[in-house]
Amino acid sequence: MTTVSQSLVVDLTTKRVFYCGMDFMSKETRSRVMSRIRGRDTKPEMIVRRYLHSRGLRYSLHVRKLPGRPDLVFRSRKIAIFVHGCFWHGHEGCQSWKMPQSRTDYWQDKIMGNHKRDTKTIRQLRKDGWLVRVIWACQLSDRRLERLYQTIVGTDKA
Ligand SMILES: [Zn+2]
Repeated sequence: MTTVSQSLVVDLTTKRVFYCGMDFMSKETRSRVMSRIRGRDTKPEMIVRRYLHSRGLRYSLHVRKLPGRPDLVFRSRKIAIFVHGCFWHGHEGCQSWKMPQSRTDYWQDKIMGNHKRDTKTIRQLRKDGWLVRVIWACQLSDRRLERLYQTIVGTDKA
């Protein structure tokens, strides 16, 4: 295994995605998020979770019973949210990642495989009556998070 180049790719991409996302945030959100992070998980998923939690929303995490184990689930509202890293899930047209130049076939297969599985998962959930939202790491802005919040509270079926 060429672990050196592999982990290098992954690490670099994760960092870039993360910083890219943070750059789009206003100072207030960034400091709010950062003040809560300190030594904790800084993955995009955690940013979404903390944001929605700070707005008073409660949710289930990684629900195994649902296709694709959505990252956040609002059961009573029947909303499933995926927070996707742009590299692993093959965000199309995204500026935050590039196909690795070494072992390109391997990565292409892997990423395309993830992408296909995501598409199938989302289709299945929608067929079952779920509202599905995918948040890409590169899109983590105040506006995107606010829009997500509004979508969730706007579809309260309770
Ligand atoms: Zn992206």
